[in-house]
Amino acid sequence: MKSLKFWFITGSQHLYGEETLKEVAQHSKEIVQFFNQQKEIEYEILYKPIVTTPEEILNIMIEANGDINCAGVITWMHTFSPSKMWINGLKAINKPMLHLHTQFNKEIPWDTIDMDFMNTNQSAHGDREHGFIFTRMGIKRKVIVGYYQDSKVIKRIGKWLNVAAVAYKGTDIKIMRLGDNMREVAVTEGDKVEAQIKLGWHVNTYSVGELAERVDFVSDRQVDLLLKEYKEKYIFEDDLFEDSSQLESIRYQAKLEIALRSMLEEGGFGGFTDTFEDLHGLQQLPGLASQRLMEMGYGFGPEGDWKVAAMVRIMKMISGNKGTSVMEDYTYHLETGNEAILGAHMLEVCPTLADSTPKIEVHDLDIGGKEAPARLTFNGKEGKAICVSLVDMGGRLRLIVLDVEAIKSSHDMPKLPVASVLWKPMPNMLDGAEAWIYAGGAHHTVFSYEVTAEEMMDWAELMDIECIYINKNTTIPKLKRELAINELLWKFK
Ligand code: MN
Repeated sequence: MKSLKFWFITGSQHLYGEETLKEVAQHSKEIVQFFNQQKEIEYEILYKPIVTTPEEILNIMIEANGDINCAGVITWMHTFSPSKMWINGLKAINKPMLHLHTQFNKEIPWDTIDMDFMNTNQSAHGDREHGFIFTRMGIKRKVIVGYYQDSKVIKRIGKWLNVAAVAYKGTDIKIMRLGDNMREVAVTEGDKVEAQIKLGWHVNTYSVGELAERVDFVSDRQVDLLLKEYKEKYIFEDDLFEDSSQLESIRYQAKLEIALRSMLEEGGFGGFTDTFEDLHGLQQLPGLASQRLMEMGYGFGPEGDWKVAAMVRIMKMISGNKGTSVMEDYTYHLETGNEAILGAHMLEVCPTLADSTPKIEVHDLDIGGKEAPARLTFNGKEGKAICVSLVDMGGRLRLIVLDVEAIKSSHDMPKLPVASVLWKPMPNMLDGAEAWIYAGGAHHTVFSYEVTAEEMMDWAELMDIECIYINKNTTIPKLKRELAINELLWKFK
């Protein structure tokens, strides 16, 4: 992804004369150079010559479309650039757009300011003209406002470029499905054709029998090597060695990991799903194996939930594979005034959420009728996080983003055999859950300490899908009104 580039296009016109245009070009170069030195901006920004005519604007937009490494375009109007000149170019561009509303000069030079200065530094109205034509044409773009050297501005630009790059690159995600959705479950279903049209995701099924066959071909030597890695990375208690059935269970998960990984790599997949209802030929549900693959950056969805698998992958791309996992709202703590949600899954929570070294354990699953699977257990970190759910509303996809605060439990849970995170949703547990349920959010989510709500809203906008954001300012009447209005808005899209 880091080979992707963004084009920086400065608009102007010929009215100002050659001298001013040279100055504008020089300033733009300096801004681009400055951005390329910032560590928060991880993608190279390419300076492009100043555009001053409709032909130049159209040509550069067509060029941007045609460059496979161009993940987006940044526009800025240092001076005034009449926007009728931009109409054809903006009609043509199909890359993510950022309208940067900044100024080369930070402060007004009170003692020396004259009309020359005013005419050169006029993005205050040049960018208003530019903003109007985007809005008039109904073109989605991100607007970031502020002095270009301001740390907040740099950070926002860096984050948006990253989300735009993921939006651009993430349209190529392939998801390997092993088995269908869990029988009779509604929210994990969805229109895969619509998902491919809207989001570019390729979601297709592969045989669990092929996985079983590959498991049988994994050699003892391969398993020994992986076990060595497990012992180095995780807590691996000695009594596991004394119990041959437990050790065998861990070895079997290692085989699953190797076999699954070979299928994922050969097929160029970004994620996968499985289901405990279709494990024919396998001895265990992948537990430790799925956790390990998520830790490497693969998306994963349990019970055939391909939407959550692809969202895990997308959010791992946005976060650089930090602090992001599939999650399930599992059970509530309803102590008055101290309500919280305990999130977990049957087995599969990604170790990137862990607050300390995960521990390998083996326990019965009590579901699916297979052998006891090995898994990693741990508690999640404290801190701000988000929960994200993608649901199919029948005719459109809706993304739901919820702000949460992960907390430390004041109790140990010695008998809980899975990884878990305890959190409080915003604006509070009861209203947060009420809002989530009105919005139709799923029980499966992507939980992330790293990705922000703004990034997910930007992503949804780039993908042109509905987004509902539940946060500290959410009230139920406002949310219900938003949902009702959205029903109408998205019907006419
Ligand atoms: Mn589940």
